[in-house]
Amino acid sequence: MWQGKTKAITFSFDDGVEQDIRLIEMFDRYGLKGTFNLNSGSFGMQITLTVKGVEVPHHRFAADKIRAIYQNHEVAAHTLTHPGLYDLSDEELIRETEEDRKNLEKLCGRDVVGMAYPFGDCDDRIARVLRAHTGVQYARTVRDNGAFHRQKDLLQFDPTVHATDFDRIEELWQAFCRLPKEQEAIFYIWGHSYEFDAVGWQPMEDFCREIAGRDDIFYGTNAQVLLGQ
Ligand SMILES: [Zn+2]
Repeated sequence: MWQGKTKAITFSFDDGVEQDIRLIEMFDRYGLKGTFNLNSGSFGMQITLTVKGVEVPHHRFAADKIRAIYQNHEVAAHTLTHPGLYDLSDEELIRETEEDRKNLEKLCGRDVVGMAYPFGDCDDRIARVLRAHTGVQYARTVRDNGAFHRQKDLLQFDPTVHATDFDRIEELWQAFCRLPKEQEAIFYIWGHSYEFDAVGWQPMEDFCREIAGRDDIFYGTNAQVLLGQ
């Protein structure tokens, strides 16, 4: 239960790029909360990505912007430099994670307890190392499960759905609304804000408006929803 409510909705967005500002304005307008997963070793990096055939900017914020931009939301780790994790030794994995987490704590002046795996790379070894040797208390994969249940292994937390799968999101929202009142359920949506530049922002805006302001739903950050923090 979250503040007496049995249903929770939470968002998770990766990389810390300029399009996060537009998304955060949207979240703030509708009273929604999100978690933003940042690579503190790559602040300020600017490249262009091709998403579904469309070129979009992937411009990361400079370090001194982070605290103010994300003040109403959660900041979580995404490793220092966004490497593929399967190839890293245990020591490298710990360093990439812990240095990022601690940098973000210092920069934002608050605890950082979450993580999203770069490229979604996660297996049992990676999760075991993080659990034993880092301050990470939950970590998200990219294995969309289309489900709302509480998950036992928070170091391999599977999201419900990807943020630009708009048709699927709408279907899942209808299913979420039909769940029995007393059943605990988490609707977890993840993605990258730059993807909306390629596929359009309007469906996301419509969805945020649709889910907002319900008495029976708790709108929280990942940490609030998964850890009760
Ligand atoms: Zn990423």
